[in-house]
Amino acid sequence: MSASSTQVEQKPKTRNIGIVYPGLQPPEKTCNDKKCPWHGIVRVRGIVLVGKVIKARMQNTVVVEREYVVWVKKYKRYERRRSRIHAHNPPCIAAKEGDIVLIGETRPLAKSVAFVVLGVLKRGG
Ligand SMILES: [Zn+2]
Repeated sequence: MSASSTQVEQKPKTRNIGIVYPGLQPPEKTCNDKKCPWHGIVRVRGIVLVGKVIKARMQNTVVVEREYVVWVKKYKRYERRRSRIHAHNPPCIAAKEGDIVLIGETRPLAKSVAFVVLGVLKRGG
């Protein structure tokens, strides 16, 4: 009898974060970051957003910019707005400037950080 081929391959253990999004996959690397949604203890709840990393100069934190439109009744036109959100960037994901990322809301992780990068949807930049 040979070893069963149904055995699951050894992959880094990731938690089930309960979020399904097209293009989102658990990171291939593992990490020891407590604030990592996949390998740490932080729980993702609240809203999930897509944005672009515009700054990755902080330690394990990135700035994500999001553009959206708001209807202005008086002029019957849309107005473009943008917002910048600080998000924790765990070492196993390591998003870089120009990447399109999915971020999820968490408990406050720092004074200005209440989001965490769940994964990179598109590498770029
Ligand atoms: Zn991790």
